[in-house]
Amino acid sequence: MEKIKMKTPIVEMDGDEMTRILWKIIKDELICPYIDLKSEYYDLGLANRNATNDQVTIDSANANKKYGVAVKCATITPNAARMTEYDLKEMWKSPNGTIRAILDGTVFRAPITVKGIEPYVRTWKKPITIARHAYGDVYKNVEIDVPGPGKAELVFTGEDGEELRETVFDFKGPGVLQGMHNIDKSIASFARSCFNYALDTKQDLWFATKDTISKKYDHTFKDIFQAIYDAEYKERFEKAGIVYFYTLIDDAVARVMKSEGGFIWACKNYDGDVMSDMISSAFGSLAMMTSVLVSPDGKYEYEAAHGTVQRHYYKYLKGEETSTNSVATIFAWTGALRKRGELDDIPELMQFSDRLEKAVIATIESGKMTKDLALITSLPDVTVLNSEDFIKAVRATYEAL
Ligand code: NAP
Ligand code: MG
Repeated sequence: MEKIKMKTPIVEMDGDEMTRILWKIIKDELICPYIDLKSEYYDLGLANRNATNDQVTIDSANANKKYGVAVKCATITPNAARMTEYDLKEMWKSPNGTIRAILDGTVFRAPITVKGIEPYVRTWKKPITIARHAYGDVYKNVEIDVPGPGKAELVFTGEDGEELRETVFDFKGPGVLQGMHNIDKSIASFARSCFNYALDTKQDLWFATKDTISKKYDHTFKDIFQAIYDAEYKERFEKAGIVYFYTLIDDAVARVMKSEGGFIWACKNYDGDVMSDMISSAFGSLAMMTSVLVSPDGKYEYEAAHGTVQRHYYKYLKGEETSTNSVATIFAWTGALRKRGELDDIPELMQFSDRLEKAVIATIESGKMTKDLALITSLPDVTVLNSEDFIKAVRATYEAL
């Protein structure tokens, strides 16, 4: 059979540890036999980030900007232990943070659902996608340990010298104090990324904040979303038969628990941080969670939501058998290839991605899976496969479809 031809390269960002091992097997078994792969390769493995003074991460993000679509392997974010393990020149920043800062994007995370791995919430029939604003609020706060009595004020000094001043609190004794911010431009980017993604995936978009209490801060988020929706998206949403829906965060939480799923839930930074862990564990497993960074000007970076699975890698290095789940990494590849196919008008590439995803799901539903899923499945007859054999089983299913 002839391999599928590509027009534009996808940006390939290789990574670390166990996911780097899976990366190669996925390419060898599931991608390269079927596709004449055009990719611009960047090695974001920690050794190469260190060798290039992290320039490779910046280059890969700029390539992502240029070509529009990237697929990224999980990477180590260095900490003190990694400094010695990899003999690092510096504690390099999180590659995801660097890429996000260059693309200015929003991260969308959605569970991959299969029969036999049931969500803990009975009513959920379809995946729930979390869209997390990745700038500001408590993540860029300033804090003071208030030592004792005194007055706390919030002061803004304009470039023209004009002052805005509010009393935060008259302290009678010790306490704590926090200041945080966001910027209209980032909120607007977040809104557009969410509206675009909703149109892309034909799903309703929910957004919620605490605007009844936070009458300026949270209300600004609500207002910017509404203004952009009315001016730029209302008609397109109506045409696509989807809905934009704003509510209070408490009401949203209650509705999510009673919903059937099948929508995008846009969250402020902190809400998204907390809620994405709740959603992914309630759907079963972090290894079944896809993640895509979408920039406001329509650049895409696909990855798995989990890390490099270090514990499995050390077993692998000792020659022991591993049973690491490659599903989210395979879906990162199919996501990127499908998007490339869409942008370049290559239907074969989109069909390939659909078929490979179907093969992954059918393999698990037939009872062949990695250990993490075997521990939580409701299927009666299960075969636990090792990392490589699971990918080979997917290939066999793909061939038979
Ligand atoms: P992790 O790699 O997500 O793994 C944590 C645990 O979750 C694993 O030990 C494993 O549990 C389970 N797990 C995660 N993915 C799995 C998979 N695909 N198949 C089977 N089990 C899976 O998180 P971590 O160990 O905290 O972090 C390791 C490294 O990843 C760190 O250096 C961190 O900086 C990096 N990281 C990168 C990204 C990214 O690039 N997006 C995200 C998060 C973390 P058991 O051990 O119980 O089997
Ligand atoms: Mg978190």
